[in-house]
Amino acid sequence: MTGLLQMSISQDLTQGSQAWSDAELVSAVQAYLHMLRLELSGDSYSKAEINRQLREGPLATRTKASVEFRMQNISAALYELKMPWITGYLPARNIGSAVKEKMIALLKTSGIDFLKAYVPTSHVEALDVKVAELRQRHMGKRPLGSIRPATETRSTTTYVRDPAVKAWVLQLASGVCEACDCKAPFLGQDGLPYLEVHHVMPLSSHGSDTPSNAVALCPNCHRRCHYAYDRDEFKLALYEKIPRLVLEVPEPIQSETDVFIEPDVS
Ligand SMILES: [Zn+2]
Ligand SMILES: [Zn+2]
Repeated sequence: MTGLLQMSISQDLTQGSQAWSDAELVSAVQAYLHMLRLELSGDSYSKAEINRQLREGPLATRTKASVEFRMQNISAALYELKMPWITGYLPARNIGSAVKEKMIALLKTSGIDFLKAYVPTSHVEALDVKVAELRQRHMGKRPLGSIRPATETRSTTTYVRDPAVKAWVLQLASGVCEACDCKAPFLGQDGLPYLEVHHVMPLSSHGSDTPSNAVALCPNCHRRCHYAYDRDEFKLALYEKIPRLVLEVPEPIQSETDVFIEPDVS
């Protein structure tokens, strides 16, 4: 397999007799996607068998190695699209850009929507949507992930917070979650009981940064406020339980950056 990696695109073009027709490329792409689906869901298949079937059918004039290299072209195109590729077909590194563009164009018309959920994202909300979609499927193949994840910089809005409000609310709670009345689960790096301060009406919905809108919560209760199916009921219950809190009038969320990111931000 690694030997094929060294193969240059000029060798690929001269290999066999003539350039691949669109019909040939389409059959290779379709066979590839079929194998990739099986691999992603953890089902077994034989690359050699599918290679043989292709050469007994639509790719009758091609050699086994030529078909393999074409599969590596497809891996390279998928790699470019940041989509998963078949582990056994390492992306051909020296594939020419024209060939890559051609393979990408073919892939896009060959039903690769099922791969979109795998494309990495720096958007927290988009990530959750993708995760939810993938959790509906059987994730058979252990993902490669990324040794050194890329970064993306974009402007974010951060609220200026009053340290006295946070300190006062934490001191008042004195190590006990104001929602579930459980003790803080551990001591923080400052040696004090670890609780998180949550704004019941989010700052992004124009909630105030005041003690009447801030509660000290254990991490579980804090997450519940943001992620639970019953988060609205849970938050309403906080207003009833904690007399200090005053219900504020919500306004629409201004931007996606305002949504929960840091546990103690909102
Ligand atoms: Zn709690
Ligand atoms: Zn919060």
